[in-house]
Amino acid sequence: MKVAVIGTGYVGLVAGTCFAETGNDVTCVDIDPAKIAKLQSGTPTIFEPGLKELMNKNQEEKRLNFTTNLTLAVQDSDVIFMAVGTPSSVDGSADLSAVLKVSADVGKAMNGSKIIVNKSTVPVGTAKKVAAIIAEHTKHPVHIVSNPEFLKEGSAIDDFLKPDRVVIGTDNEQAWLTMKELYDPFVRQGNPIIRMSNVSAEMTKYAANAMLATKISFINEIALLCDLVGADVESIRAGITSDVRIGKHFLYPGPGYGGSCFPKDVKALLKTGKDFGLPMQVIHAAEEANDRQKQVLGEKIAKHFGGTNALKGKTFALWGLAFKPNTDDMREAPSLVLLKKLLEAGSQVRAFDPIAHETALEAMKTYGIKTDNFHLSESAYQTLEAADALVLVTEWNEFRNPDFTKMKTLMRTPVIFDGRNLWKPDSVSKKGFTYYGMGRKP
Ligand code: NAD
Repeated sequence: MKVAVIGTGYVGLVAGTCFAETGNDVTCVDIDPAKIAKLQSGTPTIFEPGLKELMNKNQEEKRLNFTTNLTLAVQDSDVIFMAVGTPSSVDGSADLSAVLKVSADVGKAMNGSKIIVNKSTVPVGTAKKVAAIIAEHTKHPVHIVSNPEFLKEGSAIDDFLKPDRVVIGTDNEQAWLTMKELYDPFVRQGNPIIRMSNVSAEMTKYAANAMLATKISFINEIALLCDLVGADVESIRAGITSDVRIGKHFLYPGPGYGGSCFPKDVKALLKTGKDFGLPMQVIHAAEEANDRQKQVLGEKIAKHFGGTNALKGKTFALWGLAFKPNTDDMREAPSLVLLKKLLEAGSQVRAFDPIAHETALEAMKTYGIKTDNFHLSESAYQTLEAADALVLVTEWNEFRNPDFTKMKTLMRTPVIFDGRNLWKPDSVSKKGFTYYGMGRKP
């Protein structure tokens, strides 16, 4: 099949690469010429395990191309995916300007019947809007499919190649059959391709992300109460997740959810509810709880040292900056809230992340966080030299079994704030550290 993917970011690049891997001819389009030049030279613009190898292999086999020329890509393809960003607008709604702009560009480029697939996360009713805009520019028939993406950054290639499910929203039989043909190679183990209306497909993505955000906020709130009553949230987690109705996944306490999806999708769903006169109370609470949660690490640190004023002149080591492991994505990362608090209080921060150094500096600039007292270290251990405390923010695998004895000799005072409950409080305490976890006591 001849496939175009418009928008070559996290989703577009992964989707394009994986469609090429299953034998399709794929052209990925982006308006950013620097991004396209980098991709053409064989260098991925994002970090994702396995992406570079798969991308280069399909480039060599000439099934995967990159261009800024949207018109040619559209004219040469039967199926056109839109995977541009849909960030939050000021009122919380999804900003559809890129989706609508691409719709007009696609409409102008049409040279025959095409299937247009919306892969961006978009509010209910967007498929209709896209169809109307395209129809303003062409008489050729167009079928709009709503095909939300559920990949997770950090395991995006695996998720795309073996999705739990594929959601296809369309009322057109031919479009459904084409999409099924395109996705069948990814569900050979029997996972479902689920057909529904465009509106339901659009809503499914928001429902999924709102549910996941709610699970995180739920366990974070339980962890806060554990801190107060002296219970251990990890015991509670074990106790509740063995109930199949609750399930084992996505109930890990931490410094709050971040990333490019949950915060903006929760906001957009709340806005949709408001527009339709339905206050979404559960989801609203999940968002408020997350805003509070992002402050928790900073508050624990301030409390230990005797208040925010006492943080002036202290040195903190930060392990992990990205919003989660295996990605360099810093969008809405909880580390940013902590960095702002520590740096504004006059602390020195030395940080290490295995991947996200460049993106962290860009994000700090975007969020207006001064970098004068912020230093990136070349290794996790280097951050610890004369540090007053270590704060574990992102649970990269390489932080799981550190040499605590060596760490203690490097630090000025052996204090650990474990924002992900990565380590065992008892054994860390026995090694001479003062340990703070999220909802657990040594
Ligand atoms: P991104 O910001 O990484 O990429 C978007 C790309 O679109 C950029 O490269 C940008 O230059 C390009 N672009 C913007 N306007 C364009 C235009 N007019 N023509 C061509 N290219 C254009 O975004 P992303 O993280 O890949 O997300 C894309 C969509 O997928 C969003 O709606 C997001 O909510 C959704 N989504 C993201 C994830 C994720 O984990 N990142 C997961 C599932 C769904």
